[in-house]
Amino acid sequence: MKKSNGVYYFPFALAGFSTRAVGSVKHGNKFDRRFIEQLSHVIGSSKQITYMVQKHTTNIEIVKKDSASEIFNTDGLITQEKNKVLLAVTADCVPIVMYDSVKKIIGVVHAGYKGILLGIVENMIKKFIKLGSELSNIKIGIGPSIGVCCYDVSKDRIEQFKQRYPGFKNFFQKKHALYFLDLQSIVLQILKQFKVQNKNIERVNLCTSCNNEQFFSYRKDSNKTFGEFATFIGMI
Ligand SMILES: [Zn+2]
Repeated sequence: MKKSNGVYYFPFALAGFSTRAVGSVKHGNKFDRRFIEQLSHVIGSSKQITYMVQKHTTNIEIVKKDSASEIFNTDGLITQEKNKVLLAVTADCVPIVMYDSVKKIIGVVHAGYKGILLGIVENMIKKFIKLGSELSNIKIGIGPSIGVCCYDVSKDRIEQFKQRYPGFKNFFQKKHALYFLDLQSIVLQILKQFKVQNKNIERVNLCTSCNNEQFFSYRKDSNKTFGEFATFIGMI
C-alpha cells in the first residue's frame, strides 16, 4: 500500500476520505461539482465517480459500466467495474469501504444508527457473498465517525440496539444520567458475527466531533459551519 495526495493505493484499488480543508461534498441536497472535479483531478480523470443520495435505508445498488453518476435512495454501492470510484458522504455516521482482491469487488456503505439497526452492514456483506466473495478475502476500512466519547443518545436508542443485537457487549457507556453509543463497536461486532478476520479490518479511529477542525460533524457543527465529507473506494 502506498499513499499519495491523501489517497491510499492498493494492488487493484484506491481509497481515501476528504477533510474539511477541501470543503463540503454537498450543499443541501446537491453535490458540489467543484468537489467532484477536485477529487477527479487527484485520482485521475479516467475514473468515473459514482455518488449516492443517501436516505438511511438498507438499499445497496450495483454500479454497472453505464450507471448514472448520481444514484438516488441508496446507502450502499457495489461494483465489479474497473475505473469506478464509489463515494459515501458522512458527518458523524460510519463510512465503510470493502474490497475483495480475489473476486475484484468493491463497495462503500453509509452506516448511521438507523441504517445499522435496519441491517445495512449485513446487507453489504451478503451482497459480496452473493457475488462470489469468500469471507476470508473481504477487507474492510472504517473511516472517521462520531465516537463513544461524544455520541450521547436517549436510553430508548440504547434499548433498540440491545433488542436488535442481544449478544453484543460494550457498545455503549453510561456516564451519570447520559448514555453514549459506540457505533463502530456495533459495526465491528456485526463483522465478527460474519467471521470477518480482525487482520482484515482497518479503522481510522478518529472521532468526527473531537476532531471537528479536520472533519465535519453533524453534532458539533452549527448550521453555518456544517458540511459533509467523502469516503471513497475505487477499482483501478
Ligand atoms: Zn469524540
